[in-house]
Amino acid sequence: MVIASGNAGKVREFAALLAALPLEVRPQPEGLEVEETGATFAENARLKAEAVARATGCWALADDSGLAVEALGGAPGVRSARYAATDAARIARLLGELAVATDQRRTAGLPPDRRAAFVAALALADPAGVVRLEVEGRCEGVIAEAPRGTGGFGYDPVFLVPELNLTFAEIDKATKGRVGHRGRAFALLEPGLRELLGRGSAWDGCNP
Ligand code: IMP
Repeated sequence: MVIASGNAGKVREFAALLAALPLEVRPQPEGLEVEETGATFAENARLKAEAVARATGCWALADDSGLAVEALGGAPGVRSARYAATDAARIARLLGELAVATDQRRTAGLPPDRRAAFVAALALADPAGVVRLEVEGRCEGVIAEAPRGTGGFGYDPVFLVPELNLTFAEIDKATKGRVGHRGRAFALLEPGLRELLGRGSAWDGCNP
């Protein structure tokens, strides 16, 4: 199965989530770029899964994910990857915009609101490019005042899980796999994936 993503952080997380399944997992071929023209995470996940399955002739698992911040009207949302050029710049822009929104709320007599959710939409396409499974996972949290921790990728250092009082960059892989948006989405996908795998021969003969 090909992981329809050029994001090394996502590919690492999927490799761990899929480790217990009788599958060979491969990253998508270099240079294969799929335009994310969808308006929702689910639409973009479908686009990526379909395109990568057709291009490789393999089963393809795509993830479209991102961070939705309440006080920013759900931004950066589907534009999470395109919000700025680097992870550090994305985090700086997010904290800057949230500071502005917090000031505006204070002026309007409203308390600060740092609530946010990570969302992951997954789509699994068969080698003909037909989407066979679709799920969505969410993880609720708050945006930290400043980055904390060195693990993970993307916005992990500023996404704080209140029940743990830790950011995603401070928790280990297994914990992120359990409480994180991608892990939760994968738990919803796994029964259907196991059922499709049970049909065995349909998975053979792919060479990405
Ligand atoms: P896309 O799904 O390729 O459009 O990119 C999603 C973007 O959302 C990533 O580039 C990250 O910036 C962010 N993102 C998605 N999942 C995570 C996560 O688990 N931790 C931190 N950032 C994430």
